[in-house]
Amino acid sequence: MPELPEVEGLAAFLRERMVGRVVARVEVGAVNVLKTYDPPPAALQGLLVAGVERHGKWLDIDVDGLHLAVHLSRAGWLRWSDALPKAPLRPGGKNPVALRVRLAPEDDEDPERPPGFDLTEAGTQKRLAVHVVKDVQQVPGIATLGPDPLDGSFDLEAFRALLRDSRQQVKGLLREQSVLAGVGNAYSDEALHAARLSPYAQAGKLADADVERLYEALRTTLQDAVVAASGKPAKELKDAKRAGMRVHGRTGEACPVCGDVVREVSFADRSMQYCATCQTGGRPLADRRLSRLLK
Ligand SMILES: [Zn+2]
Repeated sequence: MPELPEVEGLAAFLRERMVGRVVARVEVGAVNVLKTYDPPPAALQGLLVAGVERHGKWLDIDVDGLHLAVHLSRAGWLRWSDALPKAPLRPGGKNPVALRVRLAPEDDEDPERPPGFDLTEAGTQKRLAVHVVKDVQQVPGIATLGPDPLDGSFDLEAFRALLRDSRQQVKGLLREQSVLAGVGNAYSDEALHAARLSPYAQAGKLADADVERLYEALRTTLQDAVVAASGKPAKELKDAKRAGMRVHGRTGEACPVCGDVVREVSFADRSMQYCATCQTGGRPLADRRLSRLLK
């Protein structure tokens, strides 16, 4: 699942290719991805792309004041093409392309195969979401976002205020979009590892020094990933994300800091990774699913 750095990379990639160009056609392959119906996607046709922004994990393409807001969710992705297929996208069927945006061709481009992008979604759990709105704040998932951890105003005090009094486990808190925008399962694992904190630690009970270390770890982890993602073509962003991970998705490999084995806790729909030596005083965390099975 793309998180803040990958969506930031995608936004920069699209900005470079789309701003100042006209949307020729929006084709819908899977009607269920559309979460709004007024204005319809066709309202974007003939209008000029004014900008591409990121809000948390949301991509926001400003098309002359109308916004195409996209949440890629777990299995969605954006595939850029310098020359899209000629045949229009048809709704239904087995095509993994949920939505296609064609730009109006310029002089040196094949008029029948203009550039543009496809939104695709793999798997059976359909969660890719597309909104067409006049104001991005009309998208509930954007209106309720917490502060952006890379925003200039997000200082240590702002971070401290988010954790204070929270009885939640810090791992869960970091992933909550209404608390902090853009961090998901992968970068919360990475930040907690870099800060040498247990994912199960209660957020409100962290010592001042722990909060400070976590703040620095979070910002550095995200900033480094944004740098790694910037300038990368859309299709290389997933590999760039994976390459930067030190514990997330690396169960069984050696911790790059201490050499201990990276451990995992599994949940029904995801898993998290951590290093016991670096983060939990050497004690492996209980895997609740496993203990339930053993009872
Ligand atoms: Zn370690």
